[in-house]
Amino acid sequence: MTDEVRQKLREKKRIVVKIGSSSLQHAQTGDLDYIRLEVLVRELCNLKNQGKDVVLVTSGAIAQGKKAVHVRPEDMERNSIAVKQACAAIGQARLMMIYQKIFSEYGQAAAQILMTRHTVDNEMNRCNAQNTFEELFCLGVIPIVNENDTVATHEIEIGDNDTLSAVVASMIGADLLILLTDIDGLYTDDPRTNPQARFVDTVERLDERFYGMAKSSTGSGVGTGGMSTKLIAAEIATKSGADMIIASSSDIRILHRIMDGRSYGTLFLANPQASFCLPEFIATLHGEEGKTGHQ
Ligand code: GLU
Repeated sequence: MTDEVRQKLREKKRIVVKIGSSSLQHAQTGDLDYIRLEVLVRELCNLKNQGKDVVLVTSGAIAQGKKAVHVRPEDMERNSIAVKQACAAIGQARLMMIYQKIFSEYGQAAAQILMTRHTVDNEMNRCNAQNTFEELFCLGVIPIVNENDTVATHEIEIGDNDTLSAVVASMIGADLLILLTDIDGLYTDDPRTNPQARFVDTVERLDERFYGMAKSSTGSGVGTGGMSTKLIAAEIATKSGADMIIASSSDIRILHRIMDGRSYGTLFLANPQASFCLPEFIATLHGEEGKTGHQ
């Protein structure tokens, strides 16, 4: 069964890959890891060259902005939200500059899409974003997505990029979402504290048991997502009809190994549900049951 479902991954046509802030930088300094970035871009270009539609959801704007202007603890104390938003404005531009440079080395056009919750809630915004994605795929472009942190306040933020990547996968009808992170998949308990924790290879049906296994920590202290947000992403992706994989970003060549049908990471199998409504699900996440806000 496992082999068979893994082999099926070769046939995926529309793939969203998400990479977190801590996976893009050197742990010791917080500076960008250019080798990892280059391998990431090369892997994405190679998928694209196989005729697949590819989207990159990248974090790192706030972390790189902070590095660029040497934010001090007293700056954060002044107004941490405004400082983070300013850092996102600085860091997002820097990240894009670097991505554009590396993508262009492979002759690959890339585009930037910045989203907020309005992009999900507001039907016209959602349609516009979907049309833009479709047109970019037709034009052979790889969209690079992040949350528009500079304008996103709590009311309109999606929250974290695990959720954002699943939202993107759902909106564009992707058939695979891959979350690259600092752990190699889901364990029955936190393997950093419990040596008995067992690795989960495949999740056929996501249920409460698995939420119990997830821990709200990334271990890196950078970025926002932990295993809990990854399971929320899995719920959105699988209910929308996409398989999802959580895999280690320590060697990004894992992407082509996964796409070759080899058994890396935890695979969550698609479980499409016609009744699944993305704006309602996001409203529920924000504790807004009964008032979906989608127009
Ligand atoms: N959007 C944030 C950034 O680019 C990251 C959010 C996250 O890591 O989940 O800095």
